[in-house]
Amino acid sequence: GSWYTVKSDQGDFIECRMKGKFRMKGIKSTNPIAVGDVVDYELEQTSDTVTGTIHHIHDRKNYIVRKSVNLSHQMHIIAANIDRVFLLITINNPPTTFSFIDRFLVTAEAYGIETILVFNKIDTLDDITLEDQLYMQHVYQEIGYQCLRVSAAEGKGVEALKELMIGKTSMFSGHSGVGKSTLVNALEPSLDLKTKNISEQSKQGQHTTTFAEMYDLSFDASIIDTPGIKGFGIVDMEPQEISDYFPEFFRLKEQCKFNNCLHKEEPHCAIKAALEKDEIAWSRYNSYLKILEGDDEHYRVDTYDE
Ligand code: GDP
Ligand code: ZN
Repeated sequence: GSWYTVKSDQGDFIECRMKGKFRMKGIKSTNPIAVGDVVDYELEQTSDTVTGTIHHIHDRKNYIVRKSVNLSHQMHIIAANIDRVFLLITINNPPTTFSFIDRFLVTAEAYGIETILVFNKIDTLDDITLEDQLYMQHVYQEIGYQCLRVSAAEGKGVEALKELMIGKTSMFSGHSGVGKSTLVNALEPSLDLKTKNISEQSKQGQHTTTFAEMYDLSFDASIIDTPGIKGFGIVDMEPQEISDYFPEFFRLKEQCKFNNCLHKEEPHCAIKAALEKDEIAWSRYNSYLKILEGDDEHYRVDTYDE
């Protein structure tokens, strides 16, 4: 809507409106302000109400977008100024695939947002699924992503997670059912996030309006909750650019013979060579090819709204 709840430096919440029209540099969006934005405002006091008028939006460190549902070619800003995203992964119930993780990581890299992988429900692992989990963790740790193993249900690993959230603004992502709400409850029992997506809500016959919000937690951390948004949206990339967002490819690509190498059939490709030597995981390379060929419909369409 046209009203925004702004938290002042003193910690008060003030209902604010926008003054005039804003044009963000370099982006055409249907919404001028999103959760996470830092704004300047002026107070407007009448005899019984205090509201505010926003007259300046500070430059954003980053922001995530999706295509507007109503207006094609326009972007909708989902959230701004995110320090860290925690991607929740479960091996079973629901399964999280390498392909899903890689697609997520590529968009997060493109947005310039640090991702930490959180393997949840470790209490449910048996011998076989434990091996799968450890292997998956190994693949991502090898290339520099920080990984955590937690059980939101049993409270395991929650303290380590808290440590990584202190002083930062975080988002939690991952498939429906991976335990986002349970984990946030374990972090801050008094918080009741609206993380349920829209289809889940209508299944329950609720028709509440949901909107994105930022919550300040008791341990000097903030969470951005964007109900109905499951992942990071599209980023239109040039084919040459995609390997920049696979850190282990990016480190090697200078050594490819051709500086426009797409790492497919080209001779003297450093990435193919590393793959043959098992220095790059096949799952990562397959994800790369999928994204490159654009046959992954989730990739270019929109966020994973489900
Ligand atoms: P969300 O859709 O990502 O918010 O997932 P929920 O937090 O609603 O969790 C989905 C289901 O998984 C619920 O039944 C939770 O009780 C269960 N769950 C969440 N975390 C864990 C965990 O660490 N261990 C186990 N065994 N179950 C969990
Ligand atoms: Zn190459």
